[in-house]
Amino acid sequence: MYIDGQWCDAEDGKTLESVNPATGEVWASAAVAGEAEVNRAVAAAQRALNEGPWAQMTATQRGKMLHKLGDLIGEHSQHLGEIETIDSGKLAKETRAQTGYVSDYYYYFAGLADKIQGATLPIDKPDMHVFTKRVPIGVVAAVVPWNAQMFLTATKLGPALAAGNTVVLKASELAPAPMFEFAKIIEEAGFPPGVVNVITGYGELCGRLLTSHPDVARVAFTGGPETARHIVRNTAENFAVVSLELGGKSPIIVFEDADLEGAVNGVIAGNFGATGQSCVAGSRVFIQSSIREKFLEKLVERTKQIQIGDPLAEDTQVGPLATKEQFDHISESVKDAISEGATLLHGGKRPEGFDTGWYFTPTILDCPNQQVRTVREEMFGPVLSALSFDTEEEAIEMANNSKFGLGSGIFTRDVARALRVSDAIRSGIVWVNTYRVISPIAPFGGFKNSGPGRESGIDTIYDYTRTKTVWINTSSEPMADPFVMR
Ligand code: NAD
Repeated sequence: MYIDGQWCDAEDGKTLESVNPATGEVWASAAVAGEAEVNRAVAAAQRALNEGPWAQMTATQRGKMLHKLGDLIGEHSQHLGEIETIDSGKLAKETRAQTGYVSDYYYYFAGLADKIQGATLPIDKPDMHVFTKRVPIGVVAAVVPWNAQMFLTATKLGPALAAGNTVVLKASELAPAPMFEFAKIIEEAGFPPGVVNVITGYGELCGRLLTSHPDVARVAFTGGPETARHIVRNTAENFAVVSLELGGKSPIIVFEDADLEGAVNGVIAGNFGATGQSCVAGSRVFIQSSIREKFLEKLVERTKQIQIGDPLAEDTQVGPLATKEQFDHISESVKDAISEGATLLHGGKRPEGFDTGWYFTPTILDCPNQQVRTVREEMFGPVLSALSFDTEEEAIEMANNSKFGLGSGIFTRDVARALRVSDAIRSGIVWVNTYRVISPIAPFGGFKNSGPGRESGIDTIYDYTRTKTVWINTSSEPMADPFVMR
């Protein structure tokens, strides 16, 4: 772990093992943080916040440090991507590209560091000058899942550091290895000790201790809804400000006037990109009845061509699932869907010739209704549930019939319809004739059980500040007697 600028193991020597999902074999181990490590990390972050060079830096200097971090991430993106791939099974093509793009997130927030402004207020009292400042909240606990660690770290660390906070970052126990590499880059960038601390360990122990710690003022969480409920309970202890980026069951609506090639690509990107292990997976696909057969035929044809293989290989398009638990969950869910009346159009099992690792063939289920398990639950795997609709109203109703509300996709050539439907859908992000595009400039987040948080975009920076109001008596007279009403 990396605490207060020092590399360390757990005091009690405990470690956990990380498995390479492409082989099913242990390939790395990580320290398991307990109470002692969490307390040390938070204390170091608290110290760095109040004393020392970080506290003295101007916002412009902080921005320059973040810019340097962006440069270094870019320089190391190949290596970081590779480590992430071996640890998580995500395609190297994708992890390298994503990590390369992560630099832009740091650059974006670096640029915002010295644009955090307060206001002078037109106050309704005589002889008073009143202004506000936006100050750092304090120690930020950043808790990330395994599936896009470099990226989900950047969306938290970028604004947190730009606004002058300090951070304790908790890696996922399922794929902690990229975080060690990241911590080396933090050290290389020259952040003063304690500004960024990286700990590894189990969620229910060190995650709980960290997010309920009395000196943590802000929790930035990405992960599943059940864990989020624990996080909210944990923060009843410290009243930390919480942001939650959770799961999804995003709809993709394909209207009869859509460009079908484009729509097939959108559905494939939304379901089989990142092996479907994406919070914005568009795993409920609603197809207008008039094009249902034609579209499904094209979709199945395209899905059959997907190249499954070693996530490190350049020509692989779908790699393994991250864990055996995930493999079992997907296998069971597909079985349940079939017993509930769904027709398996493709996949549904381990691909031929892949006897080791957690490989699962991209799967298409034609579902009779919305009660089917794979239509209701987040799969976090390459499983697509197709349903049909007749009218626009019906499509909207079906799209909104979910406890989640993260992403959504609309494929149509009709601009007015695209605007009507995007207004009616209860989701934080709507993609029209495209899918799964992101940017540091565009807010990202959901409605309902997808969590209330927003990451990226200009407003995020304020989520890492608190407003301080300063009242100054400008009268030449001393303060008046408080018991004389005026
Ligand atoms: P998870 O919720 O199991 O774990 C996320 C993190 O929380 C891990 O670091 C874990 O150690 C920690 N944790 C677990 N229990 C905790 C506790 N009691 N207190 C504090 N921390 C605890 O999620 P996962 O399986 O790693 O990732 C998959 C989930 O993440 C999916 O639901 C996916 O949709 C979601 N996700 C959301 C987004 C988004 O931006 N909305 C992005 C990526 C992933």
